[in-house]
Order: sequence, then C-alpha cells, then structure tokens
Amino acid sequence: MRMRTQRQVVDYSLQKRALLREVHSGRVGIYEVCDASPYLKNAARFHGELTDDRCPVCRRENLTHVHYIYGDELKQSAGQARSKTELPVLAMTFREFQVFVVEVCRGCGWNHLVEQYLLGRSGLDESGPNAPTSTRRRREAAE
Ligand SMILES: [Zn+2]
Repeated sequence: MRMRTQRQVVDYSLQKRALLREVHSGRVGIYEVCDASPYLKNAARFHGELTDDRCPVCRRENLTHVHYIYGDELKQSAGQARSKTELPVLAMTFREFQVFVVEVCRGCGWNHLVEQYLLGRSGLDESGPNAPTSTRRRREAAE
C-alpha cells in the first residue's frame, strides 16, 4: 500500500533478480550475499515487518522488510530503522526524507535493497490547489 506522500520511488527488483541468478548459477557465493550485519539483523528483529515472501536463498524463512530513514531534517534520527507504522506519522512531521527498504532473511542472512522513496509533507503540495510548482520544478531540475 502506497502512502499518500510517497514519491520518486526507485525499485531494485531487477538488480535483485540479476544477483539471484548469479547466486543460483554459482557465479556468486552465498556467503557474499548472506552477509546481514548484526545491526541489520537487530533492526529486522525490533523494527522489521515480516512479509509473506520466502527467502529466495534458503527458502526456509520469510523475509523481513526493514525501513531506514535518511534526511537532514531528521537530525539524530537519520540512518535509523523505523517500523512501517511509524512512517505515516513521520511523513506528516517532516517536509522530506528518504526511505530505504531492505529485505532481510533472519535465517541465512540474505539481504538486499528492495526500494527507496521520498516521504514527507512537501509531497502534499504536488496535488494541492496552492501547489508551489515553481519551487518543485527548481528542485527537480537540480537533481
Ligand atoms: Zn534465507
């Protein structure tokens, strides 16, 4: 389910499929891709969302999604993992921040970036009647 202010979504499923092909053909070692750090495993345990998808490597455990948030406005919270239920609140609190979604297998340690996107109040401007389109265009042009 998409949040209302979600924008600039980058999907990494193609990269993931390509990497998994390499793993299944033996060109990339399992130890190279199942390298979840203790921090990532902890984040999965305490802030992760368990999905219905089986781990594509060990096929024993279901994958957990971890949401990391980044942005200058977040100050000391930048780089932290947050549970998905906290994101709508943060999206109404801050103008703009980046979310990185990482899938983790808590069994074998497989991990991969799923997608990234922007959240935040400034996304509401884009469809609002008083949308500051000139500001938005300038920002997009700068990227
Ligand atoms: Zn696994």
